[in-house]
Amino acid sequence: MRLLVCGVRGSTPAPGPEFVRYGGNTSCVAVLADEDEAPRLVLDAGTGLARLSRQLGGAPFVGTILLGHLHWDHTHGLPFFPAGNRAECEVDLLLPEQGEDAEELLGRAFSPPHFPIWPRQLGDGWSFGNVKEGEHEIEGFHVLALEIPHKGGRTFGYRISDGTSSFAYLSDHSPVSFGPGPEGFGPYHEAALTLADGVDVLIHDAQHTAAEFASRSFMGHSAVDYAVGLGREAGARRVLLFHHDPPRTDDELDAIVEGFRSSPVPVDAAAEGAVIALA
Ligand SMILES: [Zn+2]
Ligand SMILES: [Zn+2]
Repeated sequence: MRLLVCGVRGSTPAPGPEFVRYGGNTSCVAVLADEDEAPRLVLDAGTGLARLSRQLGGAPFVGTILLGHLHWDHTHGLPFFPAGNRAECEVDLLLPEQGEDAEELLGRAFSPPHFPIWPRQLGDGWSFGNVKEGEHEIEGFHVLALEIPHKGGRTFGYRISDGTSSFAYLSDHSPVSFGPGPEGFGPYHEAALTLADGVDVLIHDAQHTAAEFASRSFMGHSAVDYAVGLGREAGARRVLLFHHDPPRTDDELDAIVEGFRSSPVPVDAAAEGAVIALA
């Protein structure tokens, strides 16, 4: 299994020279079964989704886009996805089940006057559905979906496995909603531990530094220290900091990673364009 990191930023894109090394596009990670196959599973559809079209080199996308939740930074790439706008494309868009028709729910923010078109106008190749909590087989991968706390709308974290390797994806996570936990950044609760248990890579919300957290935790995101602590507690082999705060520059991200150099779990910051081969 390989991961193609297409977008790493949280909340809103971050263009500009201070952000070119880690990248300014919002959340999107494509999953490849192996080196020679086109990606068929994509997590989230932030503005990074455009990078996947370039990766496909003019071929249509055939596969599933799995959304963790419906905030703008995770959906804004959908109508700007050329690989999903070709005649032969087949795109199954799945969102966390919350008691409403998926297409209608998406259309609340994806329709005039908010946006020129409705979801169904993306093309005949698109379909819309819900994913429930629990275990699923999607595009040949084993997918565990569990609800995790975040602010404003039902949010799932995912654990993806191909039977050999695995990774967890908790892009937006507010564990402090369950209380302060051992270090003040929220408890290592059961859903988070289950998703991250022994994974090769834990991709986790790292929007705030510890110093910022007290004044900004109301926004529904994690401290970097929580992401690293969850990796440690769950026995993850590596932590990839994700959903970088929009103003966080490349140099600041370098400094954050450097600060965890002695961590028992290796820590890196997710960078757009990276290809991660899982053992
Ligand atoms: Zn987000
Ligand atoms: Zn969010």
